[in-house]
Amino acid sequence: MPWPFWNVGRAPVSSIDLPQKDSSELRWHTLAAAQAREKVKATSPLSLEEASARLVEYGPNRLPEGRTSGTLARLGRQFRNFLIYVLLAAVAITAALGHWVDAGVIMAVVVIQTMVGFIQEGKAEQALAAISHMLAPMARVIREDGQHKIEAANLVPGDTVLLEPGDRVPADIRLEKCHNLKLEEAILTGESEAVEKSPEVVADDAALGDQAGMAFSGTMVSTGTGRGVVVRTGTATEIGRISGLLARTSSLKTPLLEQMDRFARILSMIVIIAGVAIFVGGLVFSGLPFRELFMAVVGLTVAAIPEGLPAIMTITLAIGVRQMARRHAVVRRMPVIESLGAVSVICSDKTGTLTRNEMMVTTAVQGRQRLEVTGEGYELDGLVCQQNRPVEVSGALAEMARAAALCNDAHLDFRQPQPRIQGDPMEAALKVFAHKAEFDIETGIGDWPRKDEIPFDTQTRFMATLNHDHHGHDVVYVKGAPERILDMCEAELSDKGDSVPLERARWDQAIADLASEGLRVLALARKPVARGSSELVVEDLASGLELLGLVGLLDPPRQEAIRAISDCHAAGIRVKMITGDHALTAGAIARKLGLNNSDRVLTGKELDGLSDEELRKLATDVDVFARTSPEHKLRLVEALQAEHGVVAMTGDGVNDAPALKRADVGIAMGVKGSEAARQASSVVLLDDNFASIVAAVREGRTVYANLKKAIAFILPMNGGESISLITALLLGLALPISALQILWVNMISSIVLAMTLAFEPPEPDVMKNPPRPREASLLQGFLVWRVLFVSLLFLTGIFAAWYWAMHHHGDDATARTLAVNTLVAMEVFYLFAVRYLDTASITLRGVLGTPIVLGTVAAVIGLQLLFTYLPWFQGTFDTRALPLEMLAFAFSAGVTVLVILEIETWVRGRLWPVRADSR
Ligand code: ADP
Ligand code: MG
Repeated sequence: MPWPFWNVGRAPVSSIDLPQKDSSELRWHTLAAAQAREKVKATSPLSLEEASARLVEYGPNRLPEGRTSGTLARLGRQFRNFLIYVLLAAVAITAALGHWVDAGVIMAVVVIQTMVGFIQEGKAEQALAAISHMLAPMARVIREDGQHKIEAANLVPGDTVLLEPGDRVPADIRLEKCHNLKLEEAILTGESEAVEKSPEVVADDAALGDQAGMAFSGTMVSTGTGRGVVVRTGTATEIGRISGLLARTSSLKTPLLEQMDRFARILSMIVIIAGVAIFVGGLVFSGLPFRELFMAVVGLTVAAIPEGLPAIMTITLAIGVRQMARRHAVVRRMPVIESLGAVSVICSDKTGTLTRNEMMVTTAVQGRQRLEVTGEGYELDGLVCQQNRPVEVSGALAEMARAAALCNDAHLDFRQPQPRIQGDPMEAALKVFAHKAEFDIETGIGDWPRKDEIPFDTQTRFMATLNHDHHGHDVVYVKGAPERILDMCEAELSDKGDSVPLERARWDQAIADLASEGLRVLALARKPVARGSSELVVEDLASGLELLGLVGLLDPPRQEAIRAISDCHAAGIRVKMITGDHALTAGAIARKLGLNNSDRVLTGKELDGLSDEELRKLATDVDVFARTSPEHKLRLVEALQAEHGVVAMTGDGVNDAPALKRADVGIAMGVKGSEAARQASSVVLLDDNFASIVAAVREGRTVYANLKKAIAFILPMNGGESISLITALLLGLALPISALQILWVNMISSIVLAMTLAFEPPEPDVMKNPPRPREASLLQGFLVWRVLFVSLLFLTGIFAAWYWAMHHHGDDATARTLAVNTLVAMEVFYLFAVRYLDTASITLRGVLGTPIVLGTVAAVIGLQLLFTYLPWFQGTFDTRALPLEMLAFAFSAGVTVLVILEIETWVRGRLWPVRADSR
């Protein structure tokens, strides 16, 4: 019996009539749309209750998840580590020699090492899995109470779904209405060309690609719009049958990680070869006994291989990803984190990203009159006034109100005091305007049903609807970018309401006036058409329109964007605004936002006239691009990249996909963005907010700095230890640290201390330095110097400790114990130095550390005391209790390292006032 048994079973659904469950076998394309609706028992939009009952019956509309590598596989992966083999061999040989303590310790190290790797990787995987859930695809559905955007997983058979360009079809759908609808079905049929759809019935034996009346889950809308009823969900869909195709596995590998993996592999090979050579040479030339020599070589191997590094880098990246998700930027592809830290140009949309996208009509122009519209946001109180006196609504203004309300897809819920808006915020604002201009939206829209429409498109920049009333009048209402609409107009409606010839110059002036105030300007027009027309064609609108008037919409800049832009400027990052809006509007908003170069605006048309060469020159200087279409974005990205920029580009529509793909960091809008844009991008913004981009860049820089710190921390340990051992072996000295002790230091103290670097918060000046150049490699210049320098410091410390103890005590074991403690002490102090690579570390902030750093240091000191004073450890690691002055020696060695590095940082800052990154 399933457990817990009381939880199993269905919600009480007796009152709700559900379609059969085996309906997935039906040949939906052979049924007319209306029949299909009957079959799924959904002749009207579903209610919420019905939908949830169906959800229980059919299960969520999603495919089984791409298998995350299982626990066993993850465990297995830990053994694919070279060092583990070395250690296992050492266990076998020491055991064979009968050195049980050694064998036991090494075995314990193997277990600890695999467990640490196992847990870390699990954590990283979890973090990523949690994030991928934040990216659930959405679907537009019509339910009993209107249009909603819901998670596609909650769709059920019988739901009515709307499709728009860039959407991914969320389930298998029987189409009822199509407008120019074309779908890319390559995922199912392999056919790369988009397929035209129409609701007609097709023959029973039609292949998948010919089933024009069906929209299949997982395919993409490339153009047009459509509506249909969901007939199959989840695994019942066509894509579900061939499931596995969609399973997306995001890997943790970034170029940097791969570089480090390669580095670690090469280093391991060198170490092994050197180890074997030393072993053979030692057997032949030195009189050392086999066991001692063998353990020395094992020690050397462990000392030289930075086995903890890949794990720490992985976790640093995973933490960065999580941190970004907290700031509303979800990373879809890991490698982008590195590019994020190097971004030098951010190209951003205007509307909704830099501005709030909470629009309000504040001005209207009809005939020769300029009118103000009062009110706040989407609140309904407000009037149309002239010089503060309400105007009487008639003539052109009344027609404007009707056009604004009818040529409109937004929905306002009037029943609430604070109207809830659905759909495009600008269109919602137009509905509010219509209401203020005395158009009765509740009844007015019903009186003028829509027969056809041309949806808004960023290319054409207008939208048109064909409406008719019940007295046989047919009218086309058009709204859109004013220059565009004026081109199509021949007449205008005067204040009085009669049609007079268009005075183009006057209108151009009015547009310029509104736009330079930062208002988004929209023109409204109409065209009477013959009775009974039922289709709207773009060509018919090319001329003969009658202009009704203009509206000016206010869309205030986001306060946080203004701050984020000035942060960018401080960080040497250029911000460019790319918008479909009017040049003057764009310039005015750019000024409010504090963009650098807001006086020079480049329009899409000018852009078209430039050669790639010319564009490259201009693109760097100009910060505002207006009246652009998505195609221009691609050219801009390429131009900026050619000038060595690392470019972040935002986008939301289908047509933005090529630019998003091409950019170093493609950023899709999570709220208003299309699925196509998300697919093409490497980061998705959950809140569409420019400030989140900047937060992600900051996080990217932090991650990169932390990776660098981890490397700068771990490698000198390996360097210092292995050079010490080699020196001792070559000079025929006693080893200053034994093999088992090196295992202890590397597997316990080093890993634990290094781990804290993954959690390092951003340094105060992360956003005060210019971005790192694209080509800058991590393992060069400063870092190489630091690793060598600190290795030598450690080497010196180890031998100094050893000789000092020998001198005072004359006891080998005590000298080794002090050498180990001195090494760990230097390591602890070095951790504080490494936290601020370019600035002073001995500061209040630096000394206080973070709770993680302090906790870890306390833990390491505790372990070190156990290691030194607990008899069991003394027996295992051959350590001796140290007198107080020896602890003081270790401590002062640590302090000395910190002070020397502080001086080094200061000198470096003096000699090369550029920061370490850029060298
Ligand atoms: P943005 O870059 O500011 O998001 P868009 O590409 O969305 O600009 O819009 C470009 C222009 O198209 C706008 O300035 C406006 O004139 C017009 N426009 C935008 N949305 C609509 C719409 N729903 N209906 C008609 N015209 C629109
Ligand atoms: Mg837009």
